[in-house]
Amino acid sequence: MNKQELIEIRNDFPILAEKVYNKDLIYFDNAATTQKPRCVVEKIEQSYYHYNANIHRGAHFLSIKATEAHEAARTSVAEFLGATKREEIIFTRGTTEAINLVATSFGEAFCKPGDEIIVSVLEHHSNIVPWQMLCERKGLKLRVISINDRGELDLEVYKTLLNEKTRIVSVAHVSNVLGTINPVKEIIRLAHEKDIPVLIDGAQSVPHIHVNVTELDADFYVFSAHKIYGPTGIGALYGKEKWLNAIPPYQGGGEMIKSVTFEKTTYNELPFKFEAGTPDYIGSTAFAEALRYVQQIGMDKIAAYEHELLSYGTERLMEIEGMRIIGTAREKSSVISFLVGNIHPYDIGMLLDKLGIAVRTGFHCAQPLIDSLGIPGTVRASFAFYNTKEEIDAFITALKRVVGMLS
Ligand code: PMP
Repeated sequence: MNKQELIEIRNDFPILAEKVYNKDLIYFDNAATTQKPRCVVEKIEQSYYHYNANIHRGAHFLSIKATEAHEAARTSVAEFLGATKREEIIFTRGTTEAINLVATSFGEAFCKPGDEIIVSVLEHHSNIVPWQMLCERKGLKLRVISINDRGELDLEVYKTLLNEKTRIVSVAHVSNVLGTINPVKEIIRLAHEKDIPVLIDGAQSVPHIHVNVTELDADFYVFSAHKIYGPTGIGALYGKEKWLNAIPPYQGGGEMIKSVTFEKTTYNELPFKFEAGTPDYIGSTAFAEALRYVQQIGMDKIAAYEHELLSYGTERLMEIEGMRIIGTAREKSSVISFLVGNIHPYDIGMLLDKLGIAVRTGFHCAQPLIDSLGIPGTVRASFAFYNTKEEIDAFITALKRVVGMLS
């Protein structure tokens, strides 16, 4: 990414020019949510102003236009993920709802008491709790893959956990706390040797690295639009057709049915079987616009530039006395969690905020991981392609000042 490209990209994101407490905003909380380019916000406005009508059932001009835009968005998501069939894309409210859908529907169809589900210690709560709820409902057991000192999954432990009782494996592609990029292709291959399906939580991978669900051979792959520069409240579940056909609907209502009588209801075909109620057809078109925007820059270019930011940020952080970086995996995405001496992460975050710098502190919705590391939480700086080395320099200067005040 050269200087001119960066200037143009930053101009696409009006919020980056905001001041907070009279200071230039430095937004390093991209793992929580990303900022939105003008084209995504404008898409929402255009959709409401020019073709807002309920989709699929209306036989009038506006409804047909809105339906076409929504279904074209589904095709965009399928192409972005490298899915071969657009019917394999289900729109959900986001990653969390997508995992709940699979845990509920897959659990209903395929799990019985005594069965086991495998997750890992570095999962976000949304890839733990839905499975725990399933375990409670059906009398299953949750098995957990551990990590090594760098924050990498221990594949030897994983191999010992896979057995004839395992019904599904569900792991993150990238950790939202440690930044670790997990070897999901290998994880899937090992599970498939035993005919076990795998769900990959792609909330932190899809925005930062090239993902192709067909190459990975993932059975389910989920992500949220808001983490990839799209709107809040929408996301996607990719599921192999064979699995989506084999599991029951998640919610009942309009759209997901073929015919309804009081005696019997028959369900609609894919993908509508899993989309009860009026879908977020405004969100879906803005979601597709966000995908178009990042594709225009290029995912490989984004990944390479963010890797530069990661290396530069890590190197500069190490200048600070007492710096402890939490998560030093060999394959890492642009997330840096850290602690300095005995200073509480919350104090660092609060003072950085007053200097205009947005980072996140605490458990990052991954309490079991934080507990297993025996730490009170972390400060987390997470970069996007609109961030710059100059921002990292300003962050380091501010952090040195904050650490000086708190030491
Ligand atoms: N998984 C991971 C790895 C995440 O980082 C997040 C969001 N922090 C989620 C799941 C949940 O995503 P959402 O809140 O958009 O459903």
